[in-house]
Amino acid sequence: MTKQEIILANQECLFPSVFHYYQEPLVLTRAKDQFVWDADGNQYLDFFGGILTISVGHCNPKVNAKVHAQVDQLQHVSTVFATEPQASLARKINAIAPGPGWKSFFTNSGTEANETAILAARCYTGSTEIIALRHSYHGRSALAMSLTANAAWRLGPPQAGIVYAHNAYCYRCPFGLQYPDCGLRCAWDVEELIRTTTSGRIAGLIAEPIQGVGGFITPPKEYFPIVAEIVRKYGGIFISDEVQTAWGRTGQKWWGIQHWGVTPDVITSAKGLANGLPIGLTSARPEIAGSLKGLTISTFGGNPVAAAAARAVIELIEEENLAANAAATGAYLRGRLEELQQKHSLIGDVRGMGLMQALELVEDRKSKAPAVSETLRLMEAARQERILIGKGGLFGNVIRISPPLNITTSDVDEFIARLDAAFTRIGAPPSAPSPPSSRHSPTGIRP
Ligand code: PMP
Repeated sequence: MTKQEIILANQECLFPSVFHYYQEPLVLTRAKDQFVWDADGNQYLDFFGGILTISVGHCNPKVNAKVHAQVDQLQHVSTVFATEPQASLARKINAIAPGPGWKSFFTNSGTEANETAILAARCYTGSTEIIALRHSYHGRSALAMSLTANAAWRLGPPQAGIVYAHNAYCYRCPFGLQYPDCGLRCAWDVEELIRTTTSGRIAGLIAEPIQGVGGFITPPKEYFPIVAEIVRKYGGIFISDEVQTAWGRTGQKWWGIQHWGVTPDVITSAKGLANGLPIGLTSARPEIAGSLKGLTISTFGGNPVAAAAARAVIELIEEENLAANAAATGAYLRGRLEELQQKHSLIGDVRGMGLMQALELVEDRKSKAPAVSETLRLMEAARQERILIGKGGLFGNVIRISPPLNITTSDVDEFIARLDAAFTRIGAPPSAPSPPSSRHSPTGIRP
């Protein structure tokens, strides 16, 4: 098919909800390592990694060799038969899980992983009530959309039994306070939320350690320890949605939640686990895993090919020390982004951890009004500069940067030069000095 035929078939034959970045869809035809190529042969530096999914580089030869061998040996039999790839992947995850004896259930996506986690929380506790965080994204099933506290991603009616706690969005504190003087008001509020909006007996809380779609919102270190303690006090379990934050992405640790010193009860993941092959993971304490009694099956779950890819990805992350690279190269990227912030006044906030960094764009740093149209223009300009970046945030004004974990500082330098040029292209005014204090009114946000 030609490029135009591909675009036309997309328009005529796919649900219109299959949206694309950019005014004209970018048709990609091949990829290698940190690069992708479009249908016109242009090369792009990929700093979005297929939405934090290309963890070890496009078409990684070591992973793909295992995939090719597995496709030719045993492609699918379903989970009513035992296979080596699923068993060895489960064994590997058991070895790196946050606690001893953890067991895994494999599906095909982050959405399904979260469905399984909520089911397990409900079976284990006997309660149905769940707490999710505002600005969260947990998937696209009816339940997962209900767990998602972002109106743009909620196409259907919400389900009952879910309440929404304040997240630790320090840049736009929901209480108009400032860290650390705030005393972590957002975290302590969870107790009042439980006492006033639930029966007081909850099944659990689901939270992303760093909110992904929400715009890489990164809480201060005290937030999750306080929240986890409150949740457990009321009988709930702590589900860490690591769809974006696992596998070393945040630097040093396998799991994002480990940065905050919290041991979760259940972990869910997907995206980066198999470097682009579809997989969903729900891993839980053995008692919680054991509470899922009765029949449940995912036909493709634990598929030998996806499982072989996942095992290869984890091994590569270990062998090449990529979690350490994410920390070191992520710190370098962060420094370079902060330099850009000095130069371009559009950049209100720089945040994230490891190789999961974001820029929140604002019309001016005092009002913090979201720079929505400028963000769209920056996306187009970045395309022209041949870099791929992501977009997110409740207001659609956050640039998400999440390259493969095996990039180098010279990739970062190249990326920054092009991102800088993209900002210059959209004609952002030169940076005004930051106001001495970032105190602001929580109503300073334009919808
Ligand atoms: N949880 C989080 C944190 C996610 O970012 C996503 C996907 N963006 C999901 C769940 C859903 O994953 P999937 O699209 O694979 O169903």
